[in-house]
Amino acid sequence: PMDFAQPVQRVKNICTHCSVGCTVVAEVQNGVWVGQEPAFDSPINRGTHCAKGASVRELVHGDRRLKYPLKLVDGKWERLSWDQAIEEIGNKLLEIRQKSGPDSVFWLGSAKFSNEGAYLMRKFAAFWGTNTIDHQARICHSTTVAGVANVFGYGAQTNSYNDIRNARTIIVMGGNPAEAHPVAMQHVLAGKEQNRANMIVIDPRFTRTAAHATEYMRIRPGTDIPIIWGLLWHIFENGWEDKDFIKQRVYGMDDVRREVAKWHPAEVLRVTGVPEEQMKRVAQIFATQKPATLIWCMGATQKTVGTANVRAFSIILMATGNIGAPGTGANIFRGHTNVQGATDLGLDVTTLPAYYGIDESAWRHWCRVWDVPYEDMVKRFASKALMETPGIPTTRWFDAVLLPKDQVDQPDLLKAMFAVGHGGNTVSRMPEAIKGMEKLELLVVADPHPTNLSSMSNRRNGTYLLPMSTQFECAGSRTASNRSLQWYDPVVKPIFESKTDYELLYRMAEKLGFAAEMFKTIEVRGKEPVAESILREINRGAISTGYSGQSPERLKLHMQHQADFDLVTLRGRAGTPVAGETYGLPWPCWGTPEMKHPGSHILYNTNLHVKEGGGTFRARFGVERNGQTLLAEGSYSKGSEITDGYPEFTVAVLKRLGWFDELTAREKEIIARIGGDNPDRVSWSTDLSFGIIRVAMEHGCVPYGNAKARGNAWNLPDPVPVHREPIYTPRTDLIADYPTLEDRRSFRM
Ligand code: SF4
Repeated sequence: PMDFAQPVQRVKNICTHCSVGCTVVAEVQNGVWVGQEPAFDSPINRGTHCAKGASVRELVHGDRRLKYPLKLVDGKWERLSWDQAIEEIGNKLLEIRQKSGPDSVFWLGSAKFSNEGAYLMRKFAAFWGTNTIDHQARICHSTTVAGVANVFGYGAQTNSYNDIRNARTIIVMGGNPAEAHPVAMQHVLAGKEQNRANMIVIDPRFTRTAAHATEYMRIRPGTDIPIIWGLLWHIFENGWEDKDFIKQRVYGMDDVRREVAKWHPAEVLRVTGVPEEQMKRVAQIFATQKPATLIWCMGATQKTVGTANVRAFSIILMATGNIGAPGTGANIFRGHTNVQGATDLGLDVTTLPAYYGIDESAWRHWCRVWDVPYEDMVKRFASKALMETPGIPTTRWFDAVLLPKDQVDQPDLLKAMFAVGHGGNTVSRMPEAIKGMEKLELLVVADPHPTNLSSMSNRRNGTYLLPMSTQFECAGSRTASNRSLQWYDPVVKPIFESKTDYELLYRMAEKLGFAAEMFKTIEVRGKEPVAESILREINRGAISTGYSGQSPERLKLHMQHQADFDLVTLRGRAGTPVAGETYGLPWPCWGTPEMKHPGSHILYNTNLHVKEGGGTFRARFGVERNGQTLLAEGSYSKGSEITDGYPEFTVAVLKRLGWFDELTAREKEIIARIGGDNPDRVSWSTDLSFGIIRVAMEHGCVPYGNAKARGNAWNLPDPVPVHREPIYTPRTDLIADYPTLEDRRSFRM
């Protein structure tokens, strides 16, 4: 019986239904979740919820929870114990591995994971010996990551939800936040109503979002790029582009001009259906009533030309100088609650956590973090070549099962799928995958609820359902669409026989024989890896994306004092660049947690000195000769001190090409300082990158990369970065003079 005299505890957690990351305050009495309200001190939801957020308690206490492990026996579900389930599944996996190799299992994670769960599952797949691990971002916003990373440097939203209130012009394209991200829509409306912002909605459908617009532009479906080119045509024609910004910070805009010149208003009208007067009006507003922000969602990205759409959006932001300042930017509304974090932490067939890729230097980096010899890790894979080859993605795995042998590279390869879902019900979006599932020897679905993925009516044996706890029954962190990490504590203990993702992965690793190595660097209590300990390992390893400063302690402090971190909106659009923090700690958050880097709530802040993270826009640089890429580098933000890099890889290529000796002494010195085992090796300097490009050009190579839609070349040598110094500064200097949390509090007072 309930003891109603017991005090009611209030526990903060995060809504799991979209990427806005609203804070939920759960009321718990006698260990039971009895009530809920939105957090009034959250700078994001400010005391509101949408209907989805108001229903999160149902995820825990709804009557559709899986209560205990089940297996399908001759078409009927039978109950079994956890120990039995782990034993049977483990034996079958080992048998399949013995027979068909480690690449014969498809490990499917989820954007509903915590950061720690996503990271752990990627690490698990590495110890199993495969890169065939993926999640649902493959079919939603992965085009956004590729598109913005190739223009700006980072594959993520540049500003924040609450920063939209600072905009004077808000354009929504390919999104309907009034229904999909309702709390984010409140910031849009606040911008419109309190800031008198123009709100322009570009969409084939007149949506609920469009109903609030000051201007609605109806377009033919699929014509996003002609729309952007059409807007740019008027911008260039009337000289509304931001010339200073382009001169100082953008390469390749002349190539864009040449392309845009083809999109005369008559041609744009023919293709898009939008008349010239409206195009001109919207172009003028976007370019001249600044700051302006562009919001997009999956209406723009779930397309065969999704990446090109995103690059076009990024280009118009750069042409108008609407990036790197409050109220500007690419405000990309992602889908699931942790789709950003799951992608950042490597639930991806092409990369290890933090976008290191899967080449040898990437593996060596993570082996150092995991404290395992690289050579031992190689032995876990079928071959070193496969270790450096992307796995089979979500969109293609069933081909490997279904297609005739002459149509696929690896016919009959996949024998099993292990899906840890949390509602990441991929099969409901790809019905053709069901036929593939029917043919698998083993299908394991670990989820708090039975989903379509588990209702394999045509399967008879070899299917298991494992009951998992929800995020409200365990601790961890999540990364909202604006790159902010937030910590959450469990509201209640795992109910029924459910287990956390962490425990499931530990138990499976134990059965499969690699728990000791895999968890050597992570604290485990009983059979439960500790979430805080996993995050600390992420802090140590995921430096390239700037997951290094967000310790569990700092994140918990942020959750406690959320109201202190709404500085973006306190300053208002006229404010100078904010030195404070937004909620959570948005990556990149550099250095060690002790350095108290405030996180980066606005990327590419053009008002900051480069050593504080302001940068110009150059990414993915590389060189090619006769159409063949000779040297390709990871994210590289020209002028920015801290970017990721693969020094060993690049140096190895330079040496192989015989170019290394042509670098200057200074460039070699920089390599010596950042390369090899130097734990601070997170920076390529501007000069070094220019040096590499210079040498490559002397060998007849064409450099590529940067802000251009169609692979046009860099204009090198060309204007040098606005800020020339410092070339390379150790990160301790970089961070030392940021205000501490206490400083910021007193500043607020
Ligand atoms: Fe949840 Fe998104 Fe609604 Fe906020 S806007 S309550 S995160 S579904």
